[in-house]
Parts: sequence; structure tokens; C-alpha cells
Amino acid sequence: MSRIEGRALALLQAVHADPGLTRAEAARRLGLGTGAATELVGRLVTAQLLTERPAPPSGSRGRPTRHLVAHPAGPVVLALSITHESWRLDAVELGGTALATVAEPHTGRVEAVLPAVAQAVGELRARFEGRVRGLGVSAPGTVLEGRYLDAANLDWHAVDLHAVWPGAEVIVADNDTTLAALAEGRRGAAVDAALAIHVRIEAGLGGAVLDGGRLVRGARGVAGEFGHMPFGDPELTCPCGARGCWGIAVDGTALARLLGAAPPANPISYGQRVLRRARSGDAASRAAAEQIAGTFGRGVAGLVNALDPDLVILDGLATDLLEAAPGALEAAYLAGLMAFRRDLPPRLVPAELREAGPLVGAAEQVWTALWPLL
Ligand SMILES: [Zn+2]
Repeated sequence: MSRIEGRALALLQAVHADPGLTRAEAARRLGLGTGAATELVGRLVTAQLLTERPAPPSGSRGRPTRHLVAHPAGPVVLALSITHESWRLDAVELGGTALATVAEPHTGRVEAVLPAVAQAVGELRARFEGRVRGLGVSAPGTVLEGRYLDAANLDWHAVDLHAVWPGAEVIVADNDTTLAALAEGRRGAAVDAALAIHVRIEAGLGGAVLDGGRLVRGARGVAGEFGHMPFGDPELTCPCGARGCWGIAVDGTALARLLGAAPPANPISYGQRVLRRARSGDAASRAAAEQIAGTFGRGVAGLVNALDPDLVILDGLATDLLEAAPGALEAAYLAGLMAFRRDLPPRLVPAELREAGPLVGAAEQVWTALWPLL
């Protein structure tokens, strides 16, 4: 089978980005004539990549519109998201729809997690026989060389993620926050942004810069560690080894410190509980929330001053913080902006994909690697 290239690939990617697109709209976006569009769609249908589906009756007259969607026998990618407490594996068709999901909690033992995932990969490959072309992995830590995971909170070190599918045609792995940002650029809040900053508070703070939807990755692929900029308290030492890190001044551990509580075992769920109490009027929780919202807003202003985005996406606990202390956050943000930026400050918006972000991003990474192989 010949590879799909050039205008046919562009059309396939347009449908992937916007499944259900009509043939006429796809032609318009790609600057194709009617004849060329018909020919290209025909090729993609023959290659079992796309199919055309009649539109539901609209009541209007004229020729029925036909929508372009994934072929029912077309390629499928697997997307795996590993979190601190569970894992989830989706089989995803072109266009991003999940056709099947396997999910299980885990107790953090890597010797148990990897074989369980490998078994699920095998089951889904058998279920979608011959159609599964690759696997993308979202992992809660630093991923080196696209495969070796260091997840300090799980005590996993140099774990080879490729072990869940040895010999895969395409297998990619990346950090969960990076993938959440990528997903917002492809299918979420940053689809139309020129330059977006993504800031995600989980255990600590991570982020990414999306330049025209593309991740700014850095020389070693680990750009975006905004949490380790010195916007925090210079008296405090971060687990990373630096002092004054921003991340430990705005996450669940910061809330615990302000409330005089012991460091929480799970800073994410602890932070969510405190911010819920803040919203429901608990004075101490509210004061703590407002203090970290101020520290957070100032840091975001610093990022905006430095990077000149048109959009800032808040993800993870940052969305809860925006709901719990919007006034304190906005005030600190605006006060930290250079004066000329205050007339038109970049919007702070919550992530659209939220918990689904890393999984969506993992699937997108596989499709990106797969395009030249289809
Ligand atoms: Zn640090």
C-alpha cells in the first residue's frame, strides 16, 4: 500500500483535528477544487483511513452533506496514562474518539503495574486485530530518551516504559504535564492561541510553552519546569535542591504549611480539600488560599512579562485556586504585569480537558509519529 502523503495527508490530518468535517469544508480549508477533494477522499476511503457518513436530516433542501470520519477498520492507537494511584489505557481511533478503555487502581509497585499494563495492551491489540499501530504513555515524572521514567513520588527510577509493548512499531512516552499542554493545543483551550503558557499545579508545579500549538521542548526535552523559578520563599529548600522555588509555595504542601498541618501524603487531594473548604467559607482555609493565590498570580505575571503569550491556561490545582480565590489571584497577576500589558492582559483560562489532558496528549503524540507511516 502506498504511503499517504502531501495533500491526502493534509486532508486526513484536517479530519483528525476536526472529525465530522464535511468534504466541502475540508476542500475550502485546504484550497482544493471539488474534483481534487473527491479524488483525495476516494483514495483515503480505499486505504481504509476515512469513511463518509451522511449528515442527519436538517430539514433543508438541496444535496445532502456528507461528513468525513474515521474508517471503521482504520488504524487505532493506544494511549496509556499512569498516575500515582491508577493507570488507564484507551484505544483511540483517528479523530480522537476512545473505542475502548481499561483502567485499574495500583499500589505503586512497578513490578505489578508494568505486567498488568502489558496484559491490557495485549488484550486491546487482540480485540482490534491488526489495527493497533502504536502506544503513547503519559507518566508522572521525568521521561528521558522517550522511555526511561523517573517518578520520585512513586520511588520509580529509570523504569523502561517500552517494556509494556516490546517491539512496538511506534511507542512514545512523555511527562503528564507536557502532554496535558500538548492536548490543550490540539483539542482544548489553546487551539487558536499564537503563544500559550500552560501552568499545572499537581505535586509541585509544571508547565509548558506552546508556540503556534507546538511545544517548546528545550535542548534536553525538559523545558517548562516553571515550578523551580525563584518566585517562592528563599528560606525554603525545594526537593529539587534549589531554594525559593515557586512550586512549593503554591501547591498542597504550601497550604499545609500555612495551616500548620503536617506535610500531606497526597498534596493534590489535600489541596483540593482545602480549596473546597475555602470556597465554602472556612476562614483559615480561605486565608491560606488567598496567600498562595497571590504568590501564584505574581509568578504568572512574571512568566507573561517574559514570554508575551496571548493566553495562559491553568490546570490541575490551579483551576481550583482560580475558583477559590479569584480576586487575590487576578489582583496579584495584574499588579505584576508591566504597565503596557495591563490594557490587554492575556486571559487566564481553566484547562478544557483537565484529567483527560495527559491521555489525549499521549494519543496525539502517537498520531504525530504515525503520519509518515500510514
Ligand atoms: Zn525546585
